[in-house]
Amino acid sequence: MKNVGIMGGTFDPIHLGHLVVANEVLNIYNLEKIIFVPAGNPPHKTRMGANSAERYMMANLATMSNDRFTVSDFEITKDSKCYSVDTLREFRKLYPETEFYFITGTDAVIELPNWHEPEELMKLCKFIAVSRPGTQNLEQRIQEVAEKLNGHIEILKIPMLQISSTDIRERIKNGMSAKYMLPESVERYIYKNNLYR
Ligand code: ATP
Ligand code: MG
Repeated sequence: MKNVGIMGGTFDPIHLGHLVVANEVLNIYNLEKIIFVPAGNPPHKTRMGANSAERYMMANLATMSNDRFTVSDFEITKDSKCYSVDTLREFRKLYPETEFYFITGTDAVIELPNWHEPEELMKLCKFIAVSRPGTQNLEQRIQEVAEKLNGHIEILKIPMLQISSTDIRERIKNGMSAKYMLPESVERYIYKNNLYR
């Protein structure tokens, strides 16, 4: 049996918070690898973000130097909305001898009841919720979510980084530096392609 981590998100852009989380879980749970899965473009949202090809490219730039990090284009290449539950169903089919660990921040995990088919999703993988600044002391609420969905969520305390994609997009838009919050290659890609201006 192999153990593989899944890190879903919009990654608009990917930053050091994401990378530190992935690496901590990889080490602590002794995972084979982490698959970053950038979400497709939400059809309803109109926003100032990067498109899915750009977000996929940045995720690749950020993870290139790590043998245990990979990026999947599964969700971004779908024409229709692809939910985490669809992705996990497909991954389970493709890799039958694998146990999947879905990694989220504490902010994302308390939203689980609003995801598509959350109970089904929780049967397909284990959930690990890592601490994120601003959302501490959520143990009780996370337990409630797990009970409501008949699933199990493990809470993992890790060194916290107060970095978010929203903050990085704001900085770039306002001509402020986001240096050291994201890999240099990703930062350069953002400026070269005039993203978030
Ligand atoms: P945005 O501000 O656009 O929502 P984000 O920084 O929250 O971006 P996402 O792509 O939404 O990044 O997050 C993907 C996953 O990574 C989520 O589960 C989120 O909780 C987690 N995550 C993001 N940043 C951090 C961080 N600094 N510490 C811990 N978890 C994080
Ligand atoms: Mg977010």
